[in-house]
Amino acid sequence: MLGPHPLPKSSGPDQPTINLKLLPAGNIHLPLYMFVEGASKSEIQPCPSMSWLLSHPSGKKIIFDLGLPNDISCFTPAVQKRLKEVVKIDVEEDVFDGLQKLGVEKDDIDTVIFSHLHYDHIGDPKAFGTKTKFIIGPTASALLSGPKSYPTDPEGHFDSNLLPKEPTTELPSQEDESYWKPLGPFPHTHDYFNDGSLFIVDAPGHLAGHINLLVRVKDGQWMYLGGDSCHDVRILNGEKEISVYSDDAGGTKCAHAVKEIAEQHLGRLRKLGDMGVQVVLAHDWKWEKENGLRFR
Ligand SMILES: [Zn+2]
Repeated sequence: MLGPHPLPKSSGPDQPTINLKLLPAGNIHLPLYMFVEGASKSEIQPCPSMSWLLSHPSGKKIIFDLGLPNDISCFTPAVQKRLKEVVKIDVEEDVFDGLQKLGVEKDDIDTVIFSHLHYDHIGDPKAFGTKTKFIIGPTASALLSGPKSYPTDPEGHFDSNLLPKEPTTELPSQEDESYWKPLGPFPHTHDYFNDGSLFIVDAPGHLAGHINLLVRVKDGQWMYLGGDSCHDVRILNGEKEISVYSDDAGGTKCAHAVKEIAEQHLGRLRKLGDMGVQVVLAHDWKWEKENGLRFR
């Protein structure tokens, strides 16, 4: 039942666990036809864009995704245009307001890990000081330096100046077996603190460098922060399919870079669910409504 690589068992009350808190990071109003096969063009779903604060017993604090910022002028002109014309957002408070309310200084954040570099997950990383490091998934930096990045391409969505060069680490390729190890249903995971409390999980298909987190929250209990593995829990449950829709130029579009690979990853998440792990997608509005308060 646990598969070839079972999750580490709890070794007792001293087992290190992660304290998880949800930070405010705005809402994005997703046009569902772009994500869920068969949804009508009029279906717009306001969803959170979740940002998580992870506190390790060592005192280290990590944020997984920064969601949406209060001030969108930090985004490229093309993203700002998209937010005015195609996808609406509302941000009452962002990550920095949330940290302030919790009494956490932004300099206390050791590392920000990005699930991926789409605008609704990156917030405003420049607002951190020099004490905070950044982690992106394998090959993600190519999005920031390629010919389609801003300002090389004035219409670019990915900003080549998004992250400071020095404290940013791109995780090694999946072929690096000294870094990535199999765990549960996943071929590539990394034990971040080397104590079994937090695993970075390679989550291919959505966008280059898409990664998720598997977090030990209590004795023997795990939560899986699934980023944009899919955008609607009905796809994860197998009730709906990932949308492929027509673009204006007579072609087709999909929210995922490689749909088949995203589907394979979802298969692994279903196995994880069967192992009793709570899987939380970054935009799961229903989960947030029912469970969000427990993590505030
Ligand atoms: Zn997203």
